[in-house]
Amino acid sequence: MQRTFLQPLTGSFAQPAAENPTVIMIEAAYRQLGIDWRYINCEVQPENLADAVRGARAMGWRGFNCSIPHKVAVIEHLDGLGESAKIIGAVNTVVLRGDALIGENTDGKGFVKALEAIASPANQSIVIFGAGGAARAVAVELAMAGAAKITVVNRGRERGEALVDLLNHRTKADASYYAWETTYSIPPETDIVINATSIGLYPDVDKTLDIDLETLDSRMIVADGIHNPPLTQLLRAAQSRGCRIADGLGMLINQGVIGIKYWTGLDADADVMRQALLDLKL
Ligand code: NDP
Repeated sequence: MQRTFLQPLTGSFAQPAAENPTVIMIEAAYRQLGIDWRYINCEVQPENLADAVRGARAMGWRGFNCSIPHKVAVIEHLDGLGESAKIIGAVNTVVLRGDALIGENTDGKGFVKALEAIASPANQSIVIFGAGGAARAVAVELAMAGAAKITVVNRGRERGEALVDLLNHRTKADASYYAWETTYSIPPETDIVINATSIGLYPDVDKTLDIDLETLDSRMIVADGIHNPPLTQLLRAAQSRGCRIADGLGMLINQGVIGIKYWTGLDADADVMRQALLDLKL
């Protein structure tokens, strides 16, 4: 077979970009799959986003991730949106399909895939802390995966109620808002508890959610979106109370697995990707 020196390109547009280790995990997966693809981590300022997307089109990029602050702004530069990206109103993965750049959102899909390794969210009663971008994506995908009841616990009322409205109007889940003003007690009928706030993210690793840990039952699954550190204070407390846990690294890695599937059609090895991240000793 004739050798080609033209490597298929993928990558990421974000600001800041330097501390994002996604390139390491994706290129480890490409190597393990034996494909000559590249993933280029690019720092793109908001005023340059349109040019960056035009450049990706011009150079025939197979797709790219979008992170802060481009997840909403990128939509006007694309040719269409996948189903959940349309509902969430944000895109973190762009895929070249034919000549069209289509926006998908894998934030919540990655979370659900990681969770499903432990249990299905179908018909479950879920408490989710947070109502920002991550919580929105996670809650919409949980609802689309058949979650029965979703309680959004958020400090700010506006974002909390907006997410609940979205879930009640655009999905089949029964959603309600709880104003997080005092220590929250987890209702005993809860099956899955999720931290989708930024509480616990490095360097504030000792910050904890204002919840009554005594109300965590060993029957519950506890998941955290924070990937650095992977074992958060919440997950430690949950483990010590006998709960099964899902960490934020699983969410991040499964987003990568889904993105690679969209771009290449291939199934990446999640263990290889996890090891590549762990080797960084972040
Ligand atoms: P946003 O800024 O959009 O939302 C932050 C959320 O955290 C809001 O609901 C905010 O509440 C809440 N919050 C922050 N500080 C506090 C506090 N002290 N007390 C109570 N609530 C608080 O961020 P994102 O949703 O984009 O990201 C959230 C986290 O998810 C990030 O830390 C990120 O690391 C993680 N993430 C992980 C991914 C992964 O792959 N593992 C992927 C994407 C995100 P309020 O509305 O009241 O301000």
